[in-house]
Amino acid sequence: MTYRIKCASCGAVMNVNESGKCAKCGADVNIDQPGMLKVYRMGNVVGVAVGFGLYLNDQPIGHIGNKETVCIPLPYGTYKLHCRSAGMSKKCKDITFTLSPEETLVCAKVYIKMGFWRNSVVPERVAPSDMPE
Ligand SMILES: [Zn+2]
Repeated sequence: MTYRIKCASCGAVMNVNESGKCAKCGADVNIDQPGMLKVYRMGNVVGVAVGFGLYLNDQPIGHIGNKETVCIPLPYGTYKLHCRSAGMSKKCKDITFTLSPEETLVCAKVYIKMGFWRNSVVPERVAPSDMPE
């Protein structure tokens, strides 16, 4: 499995398979967190080539490609997930979730909602059983 992490030292966002060193600054990066956010991007005819930007608590956490699943290890806490795409409405819905010992895994899917003027990116919480393998 590949994990999406953000270096706590320099803020670089990267995909890693295991804990190790930040490719940019050499600081330790640790995937061993008690919580996990999984985000799945539903396939869509529109905007196939467009990557969505993912934001956690307003911090960019990289992009998600079409039909891609991103796994983000996180400490316990409350987070706001925001998705954005170039040329789309900034009035996107955000979801807020809390990782705790009672809920260590939170899953969400994002999809493009067609709008009259502009399309928007909508994140939605789903049950872990609704996630693709
Ligand atoms: Zn770093």
